[in-house]
Amino acid sequence: MGILKGILAIIFFASVVWSRQLTFHDFKVFSVKVENEEQLRILKTLENDDDGFSYWKDPILGRDADIVVSPNKLNDFNDLVSALKLNSTMKIANIQKLIDAESPLRQSREAFGWENYHTLDEINAWLDGLLISYPDILSVHHVGYSYQNREIRAIKLSHKNNSAAILIEANIHAREWISSATATWLLNELLTSTDPEVVDIATNINWYFIPVLNPDGFVYTKTTNRLWRKSRYPHQHLCYGVDLNRNFDFMWMHVGASSNPCSDTFAGPTPFSDPETKALSEFMTAHIDEIKVFITFHSYGQFILTPFAYTYEPADNYEQLKQVGNAGADAIRQRYGTNYVVGSSAEVLYMNSGSSRDWIKGIHNINISFTIELRDQGSYGFILPPEQIIPNCLEIFDGLKAIVSECKIIGYL
Ligand SMILES: [Zn+2]
Repeated sequence: MGILKGILAIIFFASVVWSRQLTFHDFKVFSVKVENEEQLRILKTLENDDDGFSYWKDPILGRDADIVVSPNKLNDFNDLVSALKLNSTMKIANIQKLIDAESPLRQSREAFGWENYHTLDEINAWLDGLLISYPDILSVHHVGYSYQNREIRAIKLSHKNNSAAILIEANIHAREWISSATATWLLNELLTSTDPEVVDIATNINWYFIPVLNPDGFVYTKTTNRLWRKSRYPHQHLCYGVDLNRNFDFMWMHVGASSNPCSDTFAGPTPFSDPETKALSEFMTAHIDEIKVFITFHSYGQFILTPFAYTYEPADNYEQLKQVGNAGADAIRQRYGTNYVVGSSAEVLYMNSGSSRDWIKGIHNINISFTIELRDQGSYGFILPPEQIIPNCLEIFDGLKAIVSECKIIGYL
C-alpha cells in the first residue's frame, strides 16, 4: 500500500513538473449582452488585457459576448458590470473543472473510439490502421508540413476515380477538439455503416478528410495550454502563432482580423505566411476540379455559416447556399432538437476575413462552402464533454446527409 502510494505520488509529481500545463482554476465565463455603443466600446478595450480577460465570443452590438475572466480580475469585472449596467450571466464557474473532467486518466492501450478525445499520435495511428484495413478505397495525401514539421494529412475515401468530391477540414483552430473528433467519426461511419443511404454516399462521392490542419497548435493544447487557438509560428518574441483562419489570401485583413501578433485573431504578417494555410490552399487548388463541397468544422455556437464574412453583400448563389444549409439544420434538429442557425457569417455571427471558407468560394467559386460551428452554445464552450462527442456526430451526420441530398436536388453533386 505504502509503495503504491509512493509510486502514485511520484507519477503525480512527475506529471505536474514535466507537463507544465497551464491551469485555469476559477477562471469564469460570462455571457454579456451588448446593448449600447458605450458598452461595446468599453468591452472592446478588455481585449487588450491579455492576462485578465479574453473573449470566446467577441462583443458585437445587439448580441451576447462570451468573456473569460481570470480570478484576479473578477472584482474589476463586477465593478464594470455595475458601472455599465451590463446584463451578465455566468455560464462557466471554473474552466479548470471542465478541463479536468474532459481528460480523465486513461488506459494507454484503450482502443480508438469516440468516448474520449485523442492525441495527434493516437489519431495518426488509427488512420494508419485504416489505411492497412482498406487499401483499395483509402489513400493518404500529403498536404504539407506544419511549422514544427508535423505532417498534415488528407485521407481520401474513393470507390471510383471520377466522382465529385467533398472536402472536410477540421482543427484549423487548435482548441476546437470536437472538430477533429467529428471528422474522424464521419470517416469511420462512411467506412463501416451498412445503411444503404450511407453506402450510397460513401460509394458515389469521393471524400477528403483533413482531420487536423493545425497539428502544432493541436499538440500544444494537449501538452501546454488547452485554450490555445492559433498556429505556433513565432512571428514575434513571446507572442506565437497565427489565426490560420484569418491567414488565407482573400480579402486578407479586410475586417475582423488583427495585425497584433499577440492577438488571438492575428492574421499573420502576410497572407499565407504560415505553412499550414499555404499547404491547404495548394492542396485545394490542385483538387479544385473534383471538389464540389467544402466544409470546415469549428466550435462552438451551433451555426452553419455560408460565405461571406467580409461583407454583408450576399454570395452569388446565396439562396442555394441557404437552401442547402437549412436542409442540414432541419435534419440536425430532428434527432435531439439541437438548434443550428443558418446564414452568412457576417449576417448571423460576426464579420471577419481570410478564412478558408471565404477563400475557396471567393477565389475558386465552388458552389458550397460551409463553416459548421459545432456544439454547444457556451455551457461548456470549447471544452465540450466527451459524452457529447457521439450525439454531436450523429446529429451532424444527419445534417451532412441532408446537405448531400439537397446538393443533388440542386445539381451541385
Ligand atoms: Zn474555429
